[in-house]
Amino acid sequence: MENNKNLRSWLDAFGLDHPLVIAGPCSAETEEQVLKIAHQLKDTDTTVLRAGIWKPRTRPGNFEGVGALGLKWLQKAKEETGLLTTTEVANANHVDLALKHDVDILWIGARTTVSPFIVQEIAEALKGTDKVVLVKNPVNPDLSLWLGAVERLHTANINNLGVIHRGFSTYEKTKYRNNPEWQIPIDLQTRFPDLPLILDPSHIAGRRDIIFDLCQTALDLNYDGLMVETHFDPDSAWSDAKQQITPETLDQMTVDLRIRKVED
Ligand code: PEP
Ligand code: MN
Repeated sequence: MENNKNLRSWLDAFGLDHPLVIAGPCSAETEEQVLKIAHQLKDTDTTVLRAGIWKPRTRPGNFEGVGALGLKWLQKAKEETGLLTTTEVANANHVDLALKHDVDILWIGARTTVSPFIVQEIAEALKGTDKVVLVKNPVNPDLSLWLGAVERLHTANINNLGVIHRGFSTYEKTKYRNNPEWQIPIDLQTRFPDLPLILDPSHIAGRRDIIFDLCQTALDLNYDGLMVETHFDPDSAWSDAKQQITPETLDQMTVDLRIRKVED
């Protein structure tokens, strides 16, 4: 993949703030939940509402998402609040449905980035569109696999690309749910400085109390944005309850991180 200056242009074309704030629940649960969170985020620095509707889970028996039904909720949230929307796509059928329902940004999850044929199918389904696609790092610490997924999209002429750093799994237990391994995204950023880089502190942390510090580190490293899981009642979330923060906490965090300018 050559270093292409156009890779950054979607950030400007969308008139997106710098750094870009993406926030919303891990999973869309009900229409009311999505709309309530969207309205709470509307007056924060959030530009893009996230909500997973197709959730590939590591082990069976966990909530795997409401499916296509949630696309209408995202559409309604966008109409009512003006927030852009993003959701995870894990196969070509998801892409077709998301395109039909006008989702603004699609992301490829960590369990999908590892699978070259699936990424290729997703790239084919996106051909000829100008969708923004964000590629999460694969679950394992493998920069080539991450770059390979980006290259497959780029080769299919999808130029509005970005990457999301969500940490890497390890067998040993650490204070993180997924080790940040900062050297991997830094290596990527050095080789492709024009590829927007976004931090997902929620899946790195797996807990609320270290989200701020992870965000601060990313901003110090010149990341282009943050994707933070946000729920009005995190403890009762249907997935990733331990790591979600409330919209109020997110709002305060953007002040403390000096993303939001407070007039004195
Ligand atoms: C998510 O964003 O909710 C998610 C499942 O992320 P990841 O693919 O990074 O595990
Ligand atoms: Mn999650």
